[in-house]
Amino acid sequence: MNANPNGTGQQLWKRAKQIIPGGNMLLSKRAEMFLPDLWPAYFSKTKGCKVWDLDGNEYTDMCIMGIGTNTLGYNHEEVDAAVIKTVAAGNMSTFNCPEEVYLAEKLIEIHPWADMARFARSGGEANAIAIRIARAASGKDKVAICGYHGWHDWYLAANLGDDNHLAGHLLPGLDPKGVPQNLRGTVYPFNYNNYAELEEIVDNNDIGVIKMEVMRNKGPEDNFLQRVRDLATKRGIVLIFDECTSGFRQTFGGIHKMYGVEPDMAMFGKALGNGYAMTATIGRREIMESAQSTFISSTFWTERIGPTAALKTLEVMEREKSWERITETGTGIMARWQTLAKKHGLTVNVAGLPSIASFGFDGPNALAYKTLITQEMLGKGYLASNLIFSSLAHTPDVVDGYFNALDPVFGLIKECEQGLDVMSLLKGPICHAGFKRLN
Ligand code: PMP
Repeated sequence: MNANPNGTGQQLWKRAKQIIPGGNMLLSKRAEMFLPDLWPAYFSKTKGCKVWDLDGNEYTDMCIMGIGTNTLGYNHEEVDAAVIKTVAAGNMSTFNCPEEVYLAEKLIEIHPWADMARFARSGGEANAIAIRIARAASGKDKVAICGYHGWHDWYLAANLGDDNHLAGHLLPGLDPKGVPQNLRGTVYPFNYNNYAELEEIVDNNDIGVIKMEVMRNKGPEDNFLQRVRDLATKRGIVLIFDECTSGFRQTFGGIHKMYGVEPDMAMFGKALGNGYAMTATIGRREIMESAQSTFISSTFWTERIGPTAALKTLEVMEREKSWERITETGTGIMARWQTLAKKHGLTVNVAGLPSIASFGFDGPNALAYKTLITQEMLGKGYLASNLIFSSLAHTPDVVDGYFNALDPVFGLIKECEQGLDVMSLLKGPICHAGFKRLN
């Protein structure tokens, strides 16, 4: 199980990079983000929180869990059974699938401020739909944003600087090459919890839409969300909460329910279908009806597996109160990282929603330590990096096993802090860093 440069997965990854730009379709799943030259990269099967690589090695996923898609665990039996039933009955037809209506009704029931829904199959699409509708409703082009909202032109336009030195400094790591320069000046990023910055943007530009993640690394301070809501209401701005990642992790629905602040539109993705592609854009009637004054339409937004999976996922979530359980699991994990660090005389920074808990070390070796953790934990049968998306499959036993395995790795890091060269422990290059968010 040791990190193996000759593993079938690593060999396939090398082939992939020759014929698929970047190697795959999602930055966060690139092998270089974890363990360059050594990451097994591909799975043959999954179950609960277990993943098997192409050589039959079994790992416990204490990592990104499909990048947050599977809060009920991989291969949830009830969700899979519902999907298989749909596959047997037929996934596509000239008629529409009734499940999309039931799902719209359910999401509106969960979010009483909303009256209407549209569906897509990726978070970026749901965001693009929301922006199109909001711009149509407000009659204005300019958007203020905070957070990550997908790969589309409208969003990456935030990084079109005035010259090459400026380009890219706003959302570091996201290069806007290929995004028309004409979109420059249409998107204004603001930092989370910085109300004065947002107010200045709104004062000085004809902003029609504010789109933000409700919370990511830290919660609202100084009544931030309510103040943004009030500003939007006062200036006639459409307020959109991007709940693609935060949704169904801490409440049954958007995390905004926890803070008692209601947007005009919201998007959901990731966890909604427990691994099956399904995303939603919901909103108030007067805004959503603007979808009819523009053109938003796509073939595979009508397939039946996504809404089938989402309906069953919501049913299981509601019954299991999954958002409470994964929050409890994640809260425990955050506390235990701190305890383990203390035991070894280390300092870790712990952040995030409990169910998307992350930790990191300060200093010049931070990325090398992250790589070391991934390398050492892989050898012990764990997929591990600096964050854990908790799921129902992460039972106390699983979490105990993870911390038992992590203990000696923190010990190694302590030795490095005392002079051992971390590079002498790494069997491959240091992992790549992701882009930085504004919250
Ligand atoms: N919005 C948020 C808040 C997200 O976290 C993500 C994905 N990380 C997206 C949008 C984009 O979703 P997708 O990757 O499904 O296009």
